[in-house]
Amino acid sequence: MACKHENFNASVGVARIEDKGRFLAEIRITCRDCGVPMQFMGLQPGMNYDGATVSLDGLEARIGIHPKGQRPNPLQSLLGYTISAHN
Ligand SMILES: [Zn+2]
Repeated sequence: MACKHENFNASVGVARIEDKGRFLAEIRITCRDCGVPMQFMGLQPGMNYDGATVSLDGLEARIGIHPKGQRPNPLQSLLGYTISAHN
């Protein structure tokens, strides 16, 4: 009988890109019942420390993250807030 994929395991790793001082959250999700990995949709492959991308096999989403307060949050960006010091 085909698995309906009703339960999931999710893992999030954090990668530190040491020479750039940047961070990426690496997300994987698998079906807990049959072990099939879930493929992420709608993301470009590659690396983007200021956005979201996906591995070439589609199974790992990578999202740029940064310590709170060092970059404008979405509300501050909407208000035109800028921070002059960038890595
Ligand atoms: Zn399943």
